[in-house]
Amino acid sequence: MTTSREVQLAARPVGAPRDSDFNLVNLTLAAPAAGQIQVRNLYLTVDPYMRGRMNDTRSYAAPFAIGETMTGGAVGVVTHSEDASVPVGAHVLHDQGWRTHANIDARRVKVLPELPGVPLSAYLGVLGMPGLTAYAGLLRVAEFKAGDVVFVSGAAGAVGSAVGQIARLKGAARVIGSAGSADKVRHLTDTLRFDAAFNYKGGPVAEGLKAAAPDGIDVYFDNVGGEHLEAAIGSMRPHGRAAICGMISQYNATEPTPAPRNLVQIIGKQLTLRGFLVGPHYDLFDTFAQEVGGWIASGELKFDETVVEGIDGTPAAFMGLLQGQNTGKMIVKL
Ligand code: NDP
Repeated sequence: MTTSREVQLAARPVGAPRDSDFNLVNLTLAAPAAGQIQVRNLYLTVDPYMRGRMNDTRSYAAPFAIGETMTGGAVGVVTHSEDASVPVGAHVLHDQGWRTHANIDARRVKVLPELPGVPLSAYLGVLGMPGLTAYAGLLRVAEFKAGDVVFVSGAAGAVGSAVGQIARLKGAARVIGSAGSADKVRHLTDTLRFDAAFNYKGGPVAEGLKAAAPDGIDVYFDNVGGEHLEAAIGSMRPHGRAAICGMISQYNATEPTPAPRNLVQIIGKQLTLRGFLVGPHYDLFDTFAQEVGGWIASGELKFDETVVEGIDGTPAAFMGLLQGQNTGKMIVKL
């Protein structure tokens, strides 16, 4: 018998999640059934979309039930196998996160190759769902082309840091990022080689963006919504395109939030604002993994992780993510 320590949803948050919205429990796990494997999780991911699943309304993913162990991406090592296709010792990517151990149908996991110099946790970040979100959102949804001036918000996070670097590597004329601290801004320009960056907490976003992109922008990759989206619309040149990926400034909102006040400019400037989900873009996964994997191997694309240790730290990692405590991908290491 194996004991799994798991994080359950105790209460639906009102506004920002709190410790009391989570409950840690120890559950006994039976041996895996035929066709199943048992994994010991090594890395868990916490992601902004999970905040939507804590509400009692359907976002693009179904809500968690109260008293249910939460789910999310994880990388684990196989400790028991009742399926010959996934041997003991294999490292697998699966969706039974927020717990230390799980029994999973073998056909629902992906066996991970081990790349020299790349930690397994990268499959939850730059080489996983957030990386593909950046790649597909920029190249396919926003129809990026070489010579574009690109602005990305949430630029020091998992998705945003990949967006800016992919844009640079694909020949952007100028890459601009916004983030929530002076340290993050410095990191964007000094390490990730953004052309310009600004701290959105230091003044109106529109002013920061105008100073960084005096001639306007062609592409906006939106991770934040609200004031950022309004500023981007204001700075967009004719035929500008925006990939609307996330609106994290609104995820804890308890009231409807106002739309950008300048939407009328979409008409005159003939702008395209396109919302998207990463799910329908998995057909790009192999191309993405090859191209981004190559840039990581050559050192041209860098990725950061903020690591919280231990299953009991998972709620704090998640709450910290929503408050900007991460640079790059927020990971829980077990
Ligand atoms: P990040 O690693 O970017 O972490 C979230 C960051 O959001 C924080 O670090 C914080 O950075 C920033 N943030 C928090 N509150 C605010 C605020 N009020 N205003 C501005 N910034 C804020 O997360 P991900 O890279 O995983 O996700 C980025 C975005 O992409 C999210 O909106 C997410 O929902 C979306 N997403 C969408 C997908 C899709 O399929 N459409 C798939 C994956 C992600 P700072 O210190 O800069 O404030």
